[in-house]
Amino acid sequence: MLRIYNSLTKKIESFHPSSPLRVTMYACGPTVYDYATIGNFRTYILSDVLLRTLRFCKLQVTYVMNITDVGHLTGDNFGDADSGEDKMEKSAKRLGKNAWEIAQFYTDAFIKDYELLRLEKPLIFAKATENIPEQIVLIKKLEEEGFTYQITDGIYFDTIKFPEYGELSTLDEVRDGARVEINKEKRSSRDFALWKFSNSKEKSLSGHEAVHKKRQMEWDSPWGKGFPGWHIECSAMSLKYLSLGIFDEGKFHAENSQTIDIHLGGIDLQSIHHQNEIAQAEGATGKKFVKYWVHGAFILVDGKKMSKSLGNNYIMEDVTKNGFDPLALRYLYLQTHYRQEMNFTWGSLEASHNALVHLRDEVANLSEDKNHGDKVYEQRFIDALQNDLDMPRALAIVWELIKSRRSDGEKLASIMKFDEVLGLDITRNRHIKEIYISVPDNINELIVKRTILRKEGKYQDADKIREELRKEGYIIEDKNGVTIPRKLK
Ligand code: AMP
Ligand code: ZN
Repeated sequence: MLRIYNSLTKKIESFHPSSPLRVTMYACGPTVYDYATIGNFRTYILSDVLLRTLRFCKLQVTYVMNITDVGHLTGDNFGDADSGEDKMEKSAKRLGKNAWEIAQFYTDAFIKDYELLRLEKPLIFAKATENIPEQIVLIKKLEEEGFTYQITDGIYFDTIKFPEYGELSTLDEVRDGARVEINKEKRSSRDFALWKFSNSKEKSLSGHEAVHKKRQMEWDSPWGKGFPGWHIECSAMSLKYLSLGIFDEGKFHAENSQTIDIHLGGIDLQSIHHQNEIAQAEGATGKKFVKYWVHGAFILVDGKKMSKSLGNNYIMEDVTKNGFDPLALRYLYLQTHYRQEMNFTWGSLEASHNALVHLRDEVANLSEDKNHGDKVYEQRFIDALQNDLDMPRALAIVWELIKSRRSDGEKLASIMKFDEVLGLDITRNRHIKEIYISVPDNINELIVKRTILRKEGKYQDADKIREELRKEGYIIEDKNGVTIPRKLK
């Protein structure tokens, strides 16, 4: 049975889904005003590994991820992201596009990177902008239940009315005005916006006045033109897609609410964003929102926090541009337990890349002679997964099996199973090997010659051989350090 750390109870617990037939799981997705960083992808890889583990344990999982494409404010998520400039509009201005174009552009880029990392697709990438009516219905329900109040710049959640507020937070992180100027009219600094008005003035305690004018993204609502607060989208969309029937016929049906099994995100979301999601959902339904809260630790880069100003917020393009297999990043992240902070360096990525290539070569050399794997290793692998996703241990077991005296066929069968969870495309070089076997000897010889020339830096000579190969009817492609010949039709 899977055991996983639950941030709500602050313990490792046995996993018992609400329904044995279908696990429901939601992950907080990207805010699409820029490329997702390799830091963000550590969290999505965690989500993917958990999803694959549940499926490996023969559970049906309905998985949803949101795309935050409404422009939230630059404040940050401390005390609330309700002040500052709109992130999407700021990015639009910088790139000479409008906010909608920016959102679409970075959503597409995100999905491309998502595929490069072989992350399993959710049932839906739920966009905030496509679920505005549900967010409004949820806010209306909260209003009816007496959880809201109105001030000059919007409708706010009154956290005092929700006595459990703070159960998920590490409380000292919810300090008054820790990093954001507090809106003077808020009853408590922990209160957060549910709906912000497009045309309003906001005054902070220091007397600073911010004017919110017409925005590129705004919607009509019972409270006037405006846009949703950041937190409401996740409560609304997770309930909509995972607690079916709750928004039927444009009304809120608390009686249809079902506890969601898993909600996941990076550790920075725990104290505010996720706490606020609980307040919104449980305020409206009166029932437990989520059973298991799973949070992944951050990556640092060269020992420092990732940030634009340090120029170290690397993206997937940096990984591929430097010649690394995207899956080497997956391999690297699997080597550290998800609740442990880890430090990214290009050297560590290179080591992971080499280890992955080595692993694939080992697997390419296994001759197939059996169609069932080794039960002892398979049990040890499952035990590692089920022990709060001990992926470093799971990877070590793969290597132990490779080095063991088990037969090639057993090794291969087990490793193919393991890769359903690891997602490292471990058998890739077997296919490449098959391609090599299928080309004539003279072609293979030319390829070897060209590889040696390239290693010696004789690129012009190497290009001549490429041309020769083309005349022989083969084009060649250099991918992740391997040359792959393809026959021209
Ligand atoms: P954002 O696009 O900032 O809302 O972040 C998307 C997801 O990535 C959230 O779950 C964050 O907690 C997570 N995240 C952001 N930065 C990092 C990082 N440096 N390491 C790991 N996860 C991160
Ligand atoms: Zn969220």
